[in-house]
Amino acid sequence: MKPVTLLTGFLLPALLISCSDAPIEPLKTSDLAVDIVITAQQVFSGDGSASKAVDIAICGEIICAISPKGLVIYDAKKVINADGLVVSPGFIDPHTHSLAELTESKTASNINYLTQGVTTVINGNDGAGIVDVGTLKRQLSQQGIGTNTALLVGHGSIRERVMGRSERHANAYELSQMIALTEQAMKDGAIGLSTGLYYVPGSYASTDEVIALAKVAAKYHGIYDTHLRDESTFNIGFTNAVDEAINIAKSADIHLHLAHIKALGVDVWGQSEAVINKVNKAIAAGVSISADQYPWQASGTHLHSAVVPKWLMADSVDKFHQRLNNPTLKLKIDKEISENIRRRGGADALLFTVADDQSLVGKTLAQVAKTRAISIVNLVRQLVQQTPIRVASFNMSSDDINRFMVQPWVVTSSDGTNGHPRKYASFPKKYRQYVKDDGLLSLSQFIKQSSYATAKALKLPKRGLLKVGNFADIIAFNADKLKDNANFSNWNVLSTGIETVIVNGVVTIEHGKYNKALAGKVISNTNPH
Ligand SMILES: [Zn+2]
Repeated sequence: MKPVTLLTGFLLPALLISCSDAPIEPLKTSDLAVDIVITAQQVFSGDGSASKAVDIAICGEIICAISPKGLVIYDAKKVINADGLVVSPGFIDPHTHSLAELTESKTASNINYLTQGVTTVINGNDGAGIVDVGTLKRQLSQQGIGTNTALLVGHGSIRERVMGRSERHANAYELSQMIALTEQAMKDGAIGLSTGLYYVPGSYASTDEVIALAKVAAKYHGIYDTHLRDESTFNIGFTNAVDEAINIAKSADIHLHLAHIKALGVDVWGQSEAVINKVNKAIAAGVSISADQYPWQASGTHLHSAVVPKWLMADSVDKFHQRLNNPTLKLKIDKEISENIRRRGGADALLFTVADDQSLVGKTLAQVAKTRAISIVNLVRQLVQQTPIRVASFNMSSDDINRFMVQPWVVTSSDGTNGHPRKYASFPKKYRQYVKDDGLLSLSQFIKQSSYATAKALKLPKRGLLKVGNFADIIAFNADKLKDNANFSNWNVLSTGIETVIVNGVVTIEHGKYNKALAGKVISNTNPH
């Protein structure tokens, strides 16, 4: 009999840790006020190690004991028998756009994430994070939310507040205002700064501007999360954009998180190798880097963000439309729009997913242009002047996806947006396709990439790992039945197979059913100030 190690902190009688062939007697404990015990054969802690048969005791919102299965009898108010299920930390999604749901009481449960096993979502990515983090935090805490969330403050939002959508670099006064706004957001608990250097208005910023703001985030233990300036050949090129991000991280001495890493479009297919080499080299040189990835070949964005040149969208919507309809600019604009469509794989590779005009939804740009007997560029010109339309852009190669997925610094995300099934099905899809079907990842690796590795990268304290003292965010799922049910025809169908979800010690899904609990919290940075 091997010595028994308990993580509970209480002492075992000598007879239990001595070598003996005698069966171990269960040890009744009375010193812990246990609310819930989960007992299971297959428990993954989240750190990438193999599963163990353990009992997890929860006191209030905290994991208060973990012991070998059956060894300790807990006096618990509730026992969850999860034998036959996989138990793991609740998943953490580092890139979502779920504030619209979380801030609305009808949808605050974040049910489409809970049913993926996600107990924590990050918001504020792509440079679009709300500037007034303090106000938002209070609103969410008072109203109640189904999952935890942590907030990034957005560089694009800060820039827009200070200088609108001006297509120029910031002057010293404007920069000082942006620094002050970043500082306030970090003091209010933002976990870092996000940029969307591909999008307007982030695209108009210099590298130095971003470094100045990233330094402020670093001061408060924050991270730098970036949607790269270029994931393709739109402006500086994919590999140069990665260099820029690494340079920002080095200069600001901050953790770099590359959002939804991908090689977008045929021009850069295969460049995953060069990018992986760059990241590994930088990590070896002491730069702290992580990335997330959603397991789909299509990205999703607004039509105008996908194909309209950024200079055209400067200043305001009115100015955008004026330039678009200026006959002297017509040739130049048409050429650039056509080129952007080509980069994304052509008009057949752009699928309309959300639009007021329902006749568009489910059809490709090429199909609609043909039906309406109009040129592709002219159709784009018409559509981008209407209410925003979303597209799925089929632009990635499976080789690049697979290559990125197995890197130890890559974690799971959804980047969930309306119209794209990734909002409902990313974690179950990754499990089904890449663990079960392809065997690219082990179950333990997948869980680590979806929990502890993410918590570590984002510096979320006491999350993502089943460990005594950590918050009790725990899920149990049926490995045979965990299933992604959403697809591009039906993008908003809930995933199934998650049997139990516990958020901060509160059971919110039991036997696969949501019980209306709103147990999430707003997670703040580990601000030393
Ligand atoms: Zn993005």
